[in-house]
Amino acid sequence: MATAPPLPELDFEAMPAEELLRWGYEEFGDKLCLTCSWQKQSSVLVHMVSELGLDIPVIELDTQLFFRESYETRDRLVERYGLTLQSPQVITVAEQHKREGPNLWESDPDRCCHIRKVEPLLEALEPYEGWIAGIRRDQSPSRAATPKLQWSDRYGVWKFHPLADWDEKRVWAYIQVNEIPYNPLHESGYRSIGCIPCTRPTSPDQEERAGRWAGSDKLECGIHVETK
Ligand code: SF4
Repeated sequence: MATAPPLPELDFEAMPAEELLRWGYEEFGDKLCLTCSWQKQSSVLVHMVSELGLDIPVIELDTQLFFRESYETRDRLVERYGLTLQSPQVITVAEQHKREGPNLWESDPDRCCHIRKVEPLLEALEPYEGWIAGIRRDQSPSRAATPKLQWSDRYGVWKFHPLADWDEKRVWAYIQVNEIPYNPLHESGYRSIGCIPCTRPTSPDQEERAGRWAGSDKLECGIHVETK
């Protein structure tokens, strides 16, 4: 298990998103990466990093089960910001059916997320010491205590959450003011977007992530938890 390298004693919680990103880049340089799954937070972070002039590689967490609209959003962001994507290898859905049985997302979604998200991410993060993710505290109870910076034993990286204290309204305001391309599914009731089999639209009175693994207790795919 990797141990946390020491960091200067700074008030990371008080840092606005831009300051935290700038500090992270100064501290970790080319050992800092950003992961994207092409939801609205990806749009914000890709734009912010570009505006700050930070050369931070983007790791695409593609399960091969995303909506067409998510891939189209990716393509628009790649074109507009000149992104070079790193796409971790994941077994094909057909191979997964052969190895694990059909529709693993129904029989064992935790195992499916482990194969299609956690394992590829573990491998993708190996060369890095810092990882920027777009999670926010108000997305669900499971994210309410998210700090802006935390050490991850599991991945052996410092994990940056520059948008931890942003709410949904602020995300949309930033996207609109800056005219950033975003996933159009958000306009059809999909406030949180993942894989096709596990994502449903929600009504405005539901929690933002209520449409993920709807009808089950599952709240997280597992990449943002320390043990699974
Ligand atoms: S979100 Fe669903 S389909 Fe996607 S990896 Fe997890 S269980 Fe599988």
